[in-house]
Parts: sequence; structure tokens; C-alpha cells
Amino acid sequence: MTIILFIYGACLGSWLTAMADRYATGASPIYPASHCDTCQTPLAYWQMVPVISYLLLRGRCHYCQQRIPPTTLYLEIGAGGLLTMLTSTTVRPLLWLGLWGFAALCDARTQNFPGWVVWLAWPLTVWSLPWPTIILATCLLLGVQLLWQRWPNPLIGDGDLELILAYTLYWGVTATAQWLLVASLAALCRARNYKRLAFLPYLVSSAVAWWLIRK
Ligand SMILES: [Zn+2]
Repeated sequence: MTIILFIYGACLGSWLTAMADRYATGASPIYPASHCDTCQTPLAYWQMVPVISYLLLRGRCHYCQQRIPPTTLYLEIGAGGLLTMLTSTTVRPLLWLGLWGFAALCDARTQNFPGWVVWLAWPLTVWSLPWPTIILATCLLLGVQLLWQRWPNPLIGDGDLELILAYTLYWGVTATAQWLLVASLAALCRARNYKRLAFLPYLVSSAVAWWLIRK
């Protein structure tokens, strides 16, 4: 069972990475079939197997020898590993992390992500909260979205703020403080350009790490 879940997770990780690449280039999510981003050659079936293909190809395109970023491999292994923890109680956090993980992949490429991710993750975010809190939080989220459309140069992206709001609702204030601290330290250590920093990848990595620690 663990092996099957790992394979599913790795496929899911591979697919989400490909979808984020297509979001970044504005390509259709379904057409054309998987291909090399550099030479555009369609991939054979054996070049599309998560983890194994990367190792067989030694991290390069079979046709044009263009390097495939190793993050692809790490994401496939990471997603596979996370899905092995799937149980009836971890469905909600794993789905939530998966959705925000996709947003982070898009953010890393374009400093933007599809707005539907926030709303798709929203029922998971507020699942166990009382109704008055849900209504108040949803108004707050709408407020952030409306305000940020009108604000020319905000200091922080609306996506970052929406994730911080969602995380606080899901895990509480203390957990949020610890989570933000780790994400900010990681960003400070790794980022080269603070002005145009994609913060979501750090936030989501920290969220995954904290989820694993607290589990
Ligand atoms: Zn190629």
C-alpha cells in the first residue's frame, strides 16, 4: 500500500509541476502532450515516469540534452513521500498543502498564481470552525482581495496574505508565529532579490515541515 501511495504521490507531484510550468507560459493545461520545454519534442512514455525517468535520463532531455531542473525530482519524491502518510485523518491537511503547494509552484515561476486555489482550499481551511467565524473570515478574505486590486504597490503580495490568513484559521495563532518565523528565516537566507521575492514557496515549505513535526 505504501508503495502504491508513493507512486500516486510522485505522479501527482510531477503533474502539478507540469501544470505550474504551463500556467507560467500561458499554455493550455491539456494540449499539447508532454514535451521538452526547450526543443519541444514530445516525450516518449518511458520519459514521463516520475522519479525513474529523471534517473534514467540523468537529468537531461533525451533529444537536446537540456538540463532538467533537479527540483522536479525532489518535488516528485517529496509528493510521493507525503502521500504515503494518507489516512482518513490526514486527507484534509494533505489536500490543503497540495493546493497551496501548486500555488507556490506557480508563484516561484511567475510571482502569481491562479486565484481559484484560495477558494478551492477555503472549505478545507474553515472546516472545523463555528459558522460566525467562517462568515467573518470569508468577509476578511474578500476584503483582502478587493483592497489589493486597488493598491498599486503593496509591501506583501495578496497571495502571501491570503495564505497567512488561511494558516491562522487552520492552525491557530501560536502555530502561525512559529511557521512564519521559519519561512521568513529561510527566505532571508536563500533569497537574492528581496524586492521581487516569491514568498509562497518558503511559506508552503515551512507549512509542510511544521505539519510533519507536529504529526
Ligand atoms: Zn529537449
